[in-house]
Amino acid sequence: MADKSVYIRRRIALVIILLFVIGSIAYAARRGFLYYQNYLKYSKITMSQGEIKQGQVLFDSLLENHISREVANEVVSSIGGILNLRSLRVGEKYKVYKDENGQIVKFVYQKSPIDECFLVRTDEGQFCAFKPVIFLEKEILTRELTIESSLFEATLKAGETEMLVFNFVDVFAWDIDFFSYPRVGDTINIYFEKYYKDEQFVKYGRILAAQYKGRDTFNAIYFEPKKDRSGYFAFDGKPIEKMFLKTPLKFTGRITSYFGVRRDPFTSRHGSHSGVDFAAYYGAPIVASSDGRVSFTGWKGAYGKLVIVKHSNGYSTYYGHCSRILVKPGQKVTQGQFVAKVGSTGRSTGPHCHYEIRSRGQAFNPLRFNQPKRKALAGKDLEDFKIYSKKVWENIESVL
Ligand SMILES: [Zn+2]
Repeated sequence: MADKSVYIRRRIALVIILLFVIGSIAYAARRGFLYYQNYLKYSKITMSQGEIKQGQVLFDSLLENHISREVANEVVSSIGGILNLRSLRVGEKYKVYKDENGQIVKFVYQKSPIDECFLVRTDEGQFCAFKPVIFLEKEILTRELTIESSLFEATLKAGETEMLVFNFVDVFAWDIDFFSYPRVGDTINIYFEKYYKDEQFVKYGRILAAQYKGRDTFNAIYFEPKKDRSGYFAFDGKPIEKMFLKTPLKFTGRITSYFGVRRDPFTSRHGSHSGVDFAAYYGAPIVASSDGRVSFTGWKGAYGKLVIVKHSNGYSTYYGHCSRILVKPGQKVTQGQFVAKVGSTGRSTGPHCHYEIRSRGQAFNPLRFNQPKRKALAGKDLEDFKIYSKKVWENIESVL
């Protein structure tokens, strides 16, 4: 009896082992077969590229690239959920991946190297739309520039783009009037972040520290205090940001008429000028010089199209002769936000922005005005800042 039960048990064990081995082989064979099938499928995929041309919508562009109306419709309606089809620009590219039967299996629309929209055909035959997460590599570097003719030229010569100039100008917008201050021989140090994707430059990150050495030296270090608002501070811990920007135009322009007495170009009489005129190209962006709320937009006599922004402590700013107004009364605006475009409406002889600053109705000179400053760092924040800024400056000097 005992012999027989041992025999049966051995048989059962053998059958289980056999089934397991057969199952494994079958499984591996099936995997291999599927893999081979996939290999066949994907090895025969072809890719073609398209580009949005002047006056085209995506649908037209797809038809031009030999995609049937029916499929083009399917692509447009599937991708419409993750891509704003009205925001497409001339020159943007897309890739179409087709299998051996000519069926689209994948579609990639690239707005920029860091903004891509994907369509992938699922096993059920529908498109699945998604935006992949894109990882960027960050580099932190220092540039030392010397102005030979202009800030732009110095930056381009160093292998950077004009975007870096704009960011740099933003840092010192309170202290330096970049229309008139720079001189040949002035030097600049910028310590900044640069982002890449697949070793290709994508965008600039934050400027971590900057210095402008001209007739005076200006320093700025970006710092995030625990108690106060983040921003740029000078070595002594005083914030360099102030209540009002020096100009309502970013970079383009020069002062054509100062505050005070001047000759009126229309009546040829001497009168008082209640603001400062900045000449700029037609359509140049005008920005709010401080946080506030729009209190007036529209036509106002000699001002032409005018924007008035009300600020705290009874201040208000005026932006006149605009070609287009981009804000509405009652709207909140932040310092540096676009509010209008430069024009020549009202009593004006050419495109410029008439900028005026008033305190309780009284106009005063925006260029000579001791404006209220933000609070300096103190206590633990100041201690942390001193340690941090020393480290940052050592980093910069180590490469110079
Ligand atoms: Zn004016």
